[in-house]
Amino acid sequence: MRVLQNEPLQKRNSLRLQSIARAFVNVNSEEELRDALLWGRNNHARVIALGQGSNVVLAGDLNALVIHQATQGREVIEEDDRTIVLRVSAGENWHSLVQWSLSQGYFGLENLALIPGTVGAAPIQNIGAYGVELSSFVRSVQALSVSQSEQLKLSASQCCFAYRDSVFKRDMQDQCVITSLDLVLSKQPNVQCAYPTLKSYLHQHNVSEPTPLDIFNAVVAIRSSRLPDPATCPNAGSFFKNPVLDAAQFRSVLKRAPSIPHYPQADGKTKVAAGWLIEQCGWKGARVESVGVHSEHALVLVNYDCDDGRRLLALADDIKRSVFDFSGLELEIEPRVYGLE
Ligand SMILES: Cc1cc2nc3c(=O)[nH]c(=O)nc-3n(C[C@H](O)[C@H](O)[C@H](O)COP(=O)(O)OP(=O)(O)OC[C@H]3O[C@@H](n4cnc5c(N)ncnc54)[C@H](O)[C@@H]3O)c2cc1C
Repeated sequence: MRVLQNEPLQKRNSLRLQSIARAFVNVNSEEELRDALLWGRNNHARVIALGQGSNVVLAGDLNALVIHQATQGREVIEEDDRTIVLRVSAGENWHSLVQWSLSQGYFGLENLALIPGTVGAAPIQNIGAYGVELSSFVRSVQALSVSQSEQLKLSASQCCFAYRDSVFKRDMQDQCVITSLDLVLSKQPNVQCAYPTLKSYLHQHNVSEPTPLDIFNAVVAIRSSRLPDPATCPNAGSFFKNPVLDAAQFRSVLKRAPSIPHYPQADGKTKVAAGWLIEQCGWKGARVESVGVHSEHALVLVNYDCDDGRRLLALADDIKRSVFDFSGLELEIEPRVYGLE
């Protein structure tokens, strides 16, 4: 294990923001992770886990030990006629896992194709897309505690998964480094194609009885045509969460914005479209110096040529203020912000 001092992180985050980590280590095994955590404790350093940096805003230098989880491995740990339990190491690329599981005949993850990032980061915000969330497949999350390098195993219910949320963003924030996930996948196809964009894509392409591979290909095609590629247009995906409202909140928003797109949730709440609110406030396609709002996706903030994450956060604040004035709703930022301390 080699601890690097003053490591630049600009190429390690999808917004391409400039930030220096006081200390940085790449870990390839649990042993190396233990050594890194011990180094952190001995040097009284705060620990920040970093995957592929596709859901972080680095708003300044990080006075911390940044641990890049690079451990690789996929192992079938249980199997019966209908299901399979896979243990996947945290450093694996998420999309490669989706591709590989499909090729093995293990189904379920196809709607989550092409989401950037690592397997270890996936439970943090319970990644989701096209009507499916990671939480449906998690049996457990394995991790080491930052304070003692103690081995932790959290069941799906202990992870408290919710829309773009989990215990790792709340009570356990920065308390552990995830080492692997146990995922339960099906050997029988059980396609989820009710999500409107997906449904209409399949309809347009005359796919009436889609296979999991059809879903995978459709999701890849839709995402590739609609979402800006961070390699050419630095971004962190959706910058704001869609607000989830109780009945009273929803009624009050409807009074101000009667045509707001909304989606009833299983728990009786209603999710409303943050992108629509941002668009109504005139921000879609807006550019403020070197940062802006994508012209096709009001939820996506883009970095045209800015090193300083605080500029992007200032834009986000302006957007939040106008959405609040328009609708009374307080938007919440989706990526994790670091470096403001
Ligand atoms: C173009 C684009 C499209 C996207 N589309 C979607 C989408 O459809 N759905 C969706 O849900 N998300 C989406 N995202 C967000 C992002 O892809 C996910 O949040 C992804 O899981 C982040 O993975 P990462 O490895 O890049 O995590 P990072 O950005 O490196 O880290 C994110 C957070 O996870 C923590 N973390 C990372 N690894 C570990 C670990 N091993 N242990 C403990 N904590 C850890 C970090 O400390 C940080 O707080 C998109 C992003 C982009 C850029």
